[in-house]
Amino acid sequence: MSSASAELAENLARVRERIELAASRVGRRAEEITLVAVSKTHSPRKIQELYAAGVRHFGENRVQERESKLAHLAGLEATWHMIGHLQKNKAARAAALFDSIDSVDSAALAEKLSRARTDFNEKVTESTEERNAKKESEPLAKRNRLRVLIEVKLDPEPAKSGAAGEDVMRLVEAILHMPQLDLRGLMGVPPYFDNPEEARPPFRHLRELRDAVRARLGPEILPVLSMGMSHDVEIAIDEGATEVRIGTALFGARERA
Ligand SMILES: *Cc1c(COP(=O)(O)O)cnc(C)c1O
Repeated sequence: MSSASAELAENLARVRERIELAASRVGRRAEEITLVAVSKTHSPRKIQELYAAGVRHFGENRVQERESKLAHLAGLEATWHMIGHLQKNKAARAAALFDSIDSVDSAALAEKLSRARTDFNEKVTESTEERNAKKESEPLAKRNRLRVLIEVKLDPEPAKSGAAGEDVMRLVEAILHMPQLDLRGLMGVPPYFDNPEEARPPFRHLRELRDAVRARLGPEILPVLSMGMSHDVEIAIDEGATEVRIGTALFGARERA
């Protein structure tokens, strides 16, 4: 093992331990919590090393970056999450490049994604048939609904993205009618606080928004709460996170600002 991959494996062990400790403190099981490795700015090689160490979920925040790494990551059976703000004009590309869009913040964007996924699925079917005709042995591409989370704005700063809390109910009802989307939960990014304990109220707010939707639409809806990053993952798990998005604590400092 090169020293770089030894370091990644060590980081991964440390992150898993933090997740386990935080979960056990509140009587939860670490297996209920999905680790999404946020690989933005990091090389395909590091992604492959974390994959080899067992990580199966990765997050990128730019469509372009996912696209440029794609060729270097062929054969990885991973789930790819779009975690950054998504412009509507990139929805079609995103629907073809990602398994989950964790940052849906408007009904208009959701509508574009649903329509784009229909087109994508039709193309996948076509090319599958073409391949079958040529009797090639490539695995069949997945033809399925696009998983989505609604991103809720937890940071009052105007430049930060996310739907307003009061719009969540309306958005949930709209997305539930979109045939190509599989709405799984809510995502949020609180402001950065030196003391991570200060992120607790926004995390709790996200859980309470989810609970309000459940009170109206049933206890099975929105099982996923994606919240918690490198410096505040423990607090997020205390508050019910089922998916945590970790970059720096796994990969080290980002390679560009
Ligand atoms: C970059 C990023 C992360 C990871 O942040 P770290 O502090 O490096 O763990 C998580 N979520 C989103 C939305 C991000 O953009």
